[in-house]
Amino acid sequence: MSTPRSNIVVMKFGGTSVEDATAILRTAAIVASRLRRNLNPIVVVSAMSRVTDTLLAAAAAAGRNDREEALKISDALRTRHLNTAAELVSNPPNSHPDEHGDRLTSLQLNIHHDFDTLDDLLRGISAVGELTPRTSDNVVSFGERLSSVLVTAAFAQQSIPSTHVDARTVILTDNHYGKAAPNEPAIEAALTEQVLPLIDLGRVPVMGGFIGSCNGITTTLGRGGSDYTAAIVGGALHAGAIEIWTDVNGIMTTDPRIVPEALRVKTISFEEAAELAYFGAKVLHPATILPAVQKNIPVFVLNSRNADNEGTKITATPPPCASPFKSIAAKKKLTIIDIVASRMLLAHGFLAAVFAIFDKHGCAIDMVSTSEISVSVTVDSKEALPAICADLGQIADVKYEGNKALICLVGEDIRGQSGISGQVFSSIAHVNVRMISQGASEINMSFMVNEEDVDEALRSLHKKFFANPDPTIFDIEARVAAMDNV
Ligand code: ADP
Ligand code: ASP
Ligand code: MG
Repeated sequence: MSTPRSNIVVMKFGGTSVEDATAILRTAAIVASRLRRNLNPIVVVSAMSRVTDTLLAAAAAAGRNDREEALKISDALRTRHLNTAAELVSNPPNSHPDEHGDRLTSLQLNIHHDFDTLDDLLRGISAVGELTPRTSDNVVSFGERLSSVLVTAAFAQQSIPSTHVDARTVILTDNHYGKAAPNEPAIEAALTEQVLPLIDLGRVPVMGGFIGSCNGITTTLGRGGSDYTAAIVGGALHAGAIEIWTDVNGIMTTDPRIVPEALRVKTISFEEAAELAYFGAKVLHPATILPAVQKNIPVFVLNSRNADNEGTKITATPPPCASPFKSIAAKKKLTIIDIVASRMLLAHGFLAAVFAIFDKHGCAIDMVSTSEISVSVTVDSKEALPAICADLGQIADVKYEGNKALICLVGEDIRGQSGISGQVFSSIAHVNVRMISQGASEINMSFMVNEEDVDEALRSLHKKFFANPDPTIFDIEARVAAMDNV
């Protein structure tokens, strides 16, 4: 008989949860705790922390013909992976180097093989001096390819019956390199064929997040995409839960790196979490929520350094909240483009022509505001800007200004609250606010500020709106405990 799908829990561990041997051992202990509850984990891992950025730096160096630098970067990564392997895994006593089951030796061979392949690739890129999105995906995929092999061996060493699954054989995508879209029916078929039988055998499948393939060519789902992999897998298999293990206690009332007093949000709706992720809360990839919503699978955000904490539950129906907002997100490095119609009044079809230009360049718009004679939009793409502005220049006067940031307050309970925007803007009266969203969504309020004002604005807003938080929704116990410790 096959395992009930509701017993399956997809557990995604981010870069910090696999950053070194200590972190990987914590991760193994968390997975073992799920096995003890008779759950069937499927583990999705990110690359070890900072590895993705480092691989991108190696690819960029190769792309500008700097072969030496590219290989030097790769060498340092090889050492880091080999050292971590040696800390975590050992050969059984009296084993023979090429004996099957000789865990450390075969892991080391695997790591060397991957780095030899990577080095060949970097040499090839340096020789042509050109980095295509397809080759960049290939380079960057080594992060998750290596971490998943390493974690599988470490789990086996901890007596977790784990089996490595090459994510590229199950996460089948289109060929939009750098941001590939999943082919859901093909993924479901591949998971049914390759992953479910492992679970039925009582094994823990371990795969890399973020990476996939199109007709055998490696692709990636976009930065932060391991969360998305977890949600795709969970959605396809109708899992009982998806757990996103990271380095904070859950979704917080704002980024705790900017506002250390931020509180954990105990429960939040799919819609709110999606809005937060889209508007800059790095804790979740924006696409993560969709597969979960479609199948109504609860998503938990949890802390691998503090595994007993309840984390945040993302669900279709959280309880009502007495506070207007659940969390405040900020997205930096944005550009505002002001587009003024040349013939004064906005002519019929003008906006359609403007949006068609952004569409043509594949550039997503975060926020739009219109007046009688102009339209302002914000975008986060720098590369496409000159081409977009050249096209817009054909139909309008255009100017753009960078170093902007968007602040977005999210909460389903904004609905029906009168005078809330007055309270928001009076609490940041000292900050210059540029553009205010016209509010297509009823659950967010957003506006633009200069990048240098973001941290101060977040601190002021947080102070104003989370002074007396609703204890059913926010973890005020943690605040009380912190004050007791002072
Ligand atoms: P991972 O490597 O586990 O995917 P990320 O670095 O992508 O982790 O995301 C976790 C980080 O997101 C946290 O360390 C925190 O600084 C940041 N963050 C931003 N906004 C929030 C928020 N509202 N709640 C929690 N974390 C947030
Ligand atoms: N390693 C990838 C990144 O850093 C994907 C992820 O960690 O989610 O973007
Ligand atoms: Mg992440």
